[in-house]
Amino acid sequence: MERYDYLADYVEDFGYENGCQWVEFQHENIRSIAQVVKENNIDCELNLTRGNVALARTQKELENIVKSYEFVKDYLEKHSKTKMSLDNLELWDHEKCQEMLHSDKFIGGLFMRESGTVWLAKFVFGLLKYCLEQPGIDLITNGKVIRIENSKNIILENGRVIIAHHNIVHATNAYSVEYLDFVRDKIIPTRGQCSRSKSIETIFWPFGLSANEGGEYYHQSPIDGRITFGGCRWRSPNTEHNNQNDSEINDLIREEHKKFFSLWHPDIATQNCTFEIEQEWTGIMAFTIDDLPLIGPLPGDNKQFLLCGYNGDGVPNAFLCAKAVARMIANDDPYKEGKENNTITFLKMFLPERFTNSTIIQ
Ligand SMILES: Cc1cc2nc3c(=O)[nH]c(=O)nc-3n(C[C@H](O)[C@H](O)[C@H](O)COP(=O)(O)OP(=O)(O)OC[C@H]3O[C@@H](n4cnc5c(N)ncnc54)[C@H](O)[C@@H]3O)c2cc1C
Repeated sequence: MERYDYLADYVEDFGYENGCQWVEFQHENIRSIAQVVKENNIDCELNLTRGNVALARTQKELENIVKSYEFVKDYLEKHSKTKMSLDNLELWDHEKCQEMLHSDKFIGGLFMRESGTVWLAKFVFGLLKYCLEQPGIDLITNGKVIRIENSKNIILENGRVIIAHHNIVHATNAYSVEYLDFVRDKIIPTRGQCSRSKSIETIFWPFGLSANEGGEYYHQSPIDGRITFGGCRWRSPNTEHNNQNDSEINDLIREEHKKFFSLWHPDIATQNCTFEIEQEWTGIMAFTIDDLPLIGPLPGDNKQFLLCGYNGDGVPNAFLCAKAVARMIANDDPYKEGKENNTITFLKMFLPERFTNSTIIQ
């Protein structure tokens, strides 16, 4: 869930402070999720102590991981109040990988201790239950929005019209391209695919894993040993970009999923275990043209807000982004809470206004 290993890329793309702050922001997100799960007693199998390892198969991947580690080290020296800590990080060499992974295929890794997994659908149901217990909530299901008129009238596919007396928040992810002009040339709908294996008796890894710079990710359930595996979009000729069809499975990607464990974890087979797919699914992610989320007012329209475009990393970002938008709507400062707690609760570079006013990100 946490992306220390992306730091070198973030720094390269968005600058040192912005990159480091984004990793801080993700940590604060996870802490906020943990708090809300605890306060509301949401059963969503949240486990933030199992850790995650980002694995390197090539020298280039290894260099990137080491660079990210060095950036964290440097940032911590310069920012004494940060809640990030080097105690959470461990660089693994080839031998350590071999010892921990049942595989001699990885030349190094970055193990992130304060990191883990959450059953997202269960978390969302928990939040929904909380919302429905509040007064004045009206939940409309099967109500596909097809158009917004005058920043006020929300036109549904079934002909119904909802009047928005205050504000409209577009949390419709990549699907927003279907009805919102502003995002059409900024969001690229991208299909992701996951598989889950049958139960496996042996637990090979108590932590989560990722390879290919986050392109592949997997973990094994401590309860039934099932492996959940995602990624391999590279196998598709168009890397699944501009694909909004989540009702089908890509067979080429399925083949790669099947091959992955015999290629990269051959020791599994020697223990009489196989990665046999029992369930698989696809979903649509909102990639953006500048790799940054779109969070905040729709430029030129103070009634509508965007809350989308996580580039496939919604879990460590969405929660506090939503809180920031709620603060904006309430005319409250989305940065205030962060300043008070020495944390980061919103990033200016996410504002959609960056596309219409280039001076916004400094
Ligand atoms: C296979 C796969 C694996 C992933 N793995 C991870 C992971 O390991 N870690 C991680 O951080 N992220 C992961 N993601 C990404 C993560 O799922 C997204 O970032 C996250 O779901 C985005 O949340 P969201 O609420 O913005 O959008 P969504 O979860 O896409 O929700 C959008 C909602 O809007 C509704 N909607 C759409 N159009 C309309 C309309 N016209 N009218 C009304 N309602 C509409 C949809 O029905 C949906 O409920 C993965 C995604 C996929 C597909």
